[in-house]
Amino acid sequence: MNEYPIPIERLVDELSKLPGIGRKTALRLAYHIINLNEIQVKNLSNALIEAKEKIHECKLCFNLTDKEYCDLCSNDKRDRSKICVVESPKDLFAIENGGGYNGLYHVLHGIISPMNGIGAGQIRLKELEDRLNDDIKEIIIATNLSVEGDATAHYISQLVKDKDILVTRIAHGVPVGSDLEYFDSVTLKLALKNRTEI
Ligand code: ZN
Repeated sequence: MNEYPIPIERLVDELSKLPGIGRKTALRLAYHIINLNEIQVKNLSNALIEAKEKIHECKLCFNLTDKEYCDLCSNDKRDRSKICVVESPKDLFAIENGGGYNGLYHVLHGIISPMNGIGAGQIRLKELEDRLNDDIKEIIIATNLSVEGDATAHYISQLVKDKDILVTRIAHGVPVGSDLEYFDSVTLKLALKNRTEI
């Protein structure tokens, strides 16, 4: 016999697949959802489906957007001579929230990690290479300060080697091994400001 009715078990099961949600939290959320009125539950489930259906990658920078080109790429006030390379959209948002950067971005959607079988071909590096035209003056590599982040930075610096483009890396004044998305905005702003040439 199940501890809870099957529909609740199913809901708990799905919720506990989300990152950071254990069974106890999933149960709490499930009870909360069951206590919502029908309209609230429909709004929640519609929001999930709509986000999944409408959100895709920007054609230029691969940030998440509901348009062909994201708001950053479409904004003509941004400095189009700089590209800041990040691992994930979460890192892009962290840097944007820091407020110290006015260029464009390139989201790799991953990182070179031989240990996990992820090579250069599996992340958006080819697409970065395709963007390196004469208008680009600087590539700022803001991958996480980990072994993989550094390996990816090195790979990008090799891509750019024969071009007249400055390659910089965010400063190592931030805790090594930690994720960019958890930095406070002041730390991120400083890391970007104190970037070094590689
Ligand atoms: Zn974009």
